[in-house]
Amino acid sequence: MHVPIRDPETSTVANDSSGFGILAGVLIPGRGQPISKAALIVKDDIIEWVGPESEIPAQYQTFGFSRIPVLMPGMWDVHTHFMGADIVAPVTNFVPSFLPGTAALIGAVTVDDLRATLMAGFTSVRELGGYAGDVFPAVEKGAIVGPNVYSSMGILGITGGHSDIHELPLSTVKHGCSLGVPTQVCDGVDGCTSAVRQMVRRGAKVIKICSTGGVLSLNDQPEDSQFSPAELRAIVEEAARSSRVVASHAIGKNGIMAALDAGVKTIEHGMYVDEEVISKMKEKDAILVPTRHIVEGLAAGAEDLPPKVRVKVERLLQLSRDSLKLAVKRRLKIALGTDTFSSDRKHAISHGKNAKELLYAIEAGMLPLEAIEMATAIPPETLGRQARRAGQLRAGYDADMIAISKSPLENIEILTNPDNVTHVWKAGVLYKSPPVSFV
Ligand SMILES: [Zn+2]
Repeated sequence: MHVPIRDPETSTVANDSSGFGILAGVLIPGRGQPISKAALIVKDDIIEWVGPESEIPAQYQTFGFSRIPVLMPGMWDVHTHFMGADIVAPVTNFVPSFLPGTAALIGAVTVDDLRATLMAGFTSVRELGGYAGDVFPAVEKGAIVGPNVYSSMGILGITGGHSDIHELPLSTVKHGCSLGVPTQVCDGVDGCTSAVRQMVRRGAKVIKICSTGGVLSLNDQPEDSQFSPAELRAIVEEAARSSRVVASHAIGKNGIMAALDAGVKTIEHGMYVDEEVISKMKEKDAILVPTRHIVEGLAAGAEDLPPKVRVKVERLLQLSRDSLKLAVKRRLKIALGTDTFSSDRKHAISHGKNAKELLYAIEAGMLPLEAIEMATAIPPETLGRQARRAGQLRAGYDADMIAISKSPLENIEILTNPDNVTHVWKAGVLYKSPPVSFV
């Protein structure tokens, strides 16, 4: 069939208002093999048809069509934090978050961080503690521009654990939690059950916990286990009653294994992943979120970190490289997550640089097509039943798509430069297109 081609900005071709088509030199579906000379039809906010250009059904003849080189699903980052870090205070200092007015300042900064994330080709993010969950209703209402946000709202951890702020009086931390600071301490089975309910009440789509100590928290170690087995089980069971899955910050092996035994769905960071962990993850259908980007980003600026933090980063750097390499070799299910949380565009881990995680996956042995699946088709699985039908270019899926100027299958680095992401559609709405030049 003959279809009229239009440029998205300059078109005068009559367009069926409820739908449009895209002709792609190469269409990467997210899962499965790429299709060359492909076409994709969008009706309202949903992908209605995908196939070879030569087989476009006749009923779409009245639609306007654009021609682009490469089309793929919008990418996902399943481990982000929108906290205004480096604008409000350095990434290593969470204390100012507890001062009156700071939440509004962070919210203001988050508006541009969400925009930068979408313009970099990320149409969905999972936020594992942060303020984007509070800001997201403005995205849904169209007041500001950003990706779909699936937030945990707060981060649950034990008193003295990774989600505690060790520099502040405990009463201040607990007061902060009640005011919406995205961190929460909870202890004992009853306390943990109640904390999950509080997060669901605030709008959490996933529950984030810490089953080990961390890098940026002062008085614990990444190898420490946090929460008892009974507390972990209580959290997973309570989350499941509301159809939420649990994501666990888990670095040391004991804390990873305890989280998996309790039924946690995603292991965040996982620097001590070994053969035994991989067997257990496969048995439980758990997903690894390696966050290599933050480890490399912090290591690159190690001289500016507080000494206690620097020692931990240096200890974990090679471990994180090795664990991802092993996970790729054993074909473990892996989703793209960066732990991006700086709002300073000059910082290595600032919002909008999320695609850098793809480079580390390739370095660890993934093929480009597998790395793209890690960024598109797999991520919705990290949300259980809370995810929209998205992440693949298939009929019936959300029309979340990006156009790329050159094929990332030849060089994955193409995706790390937002300038190469020429178009971004979310739910069928075009949010980014090449600038029009006037002569
Ligand atoms: Zn994180």
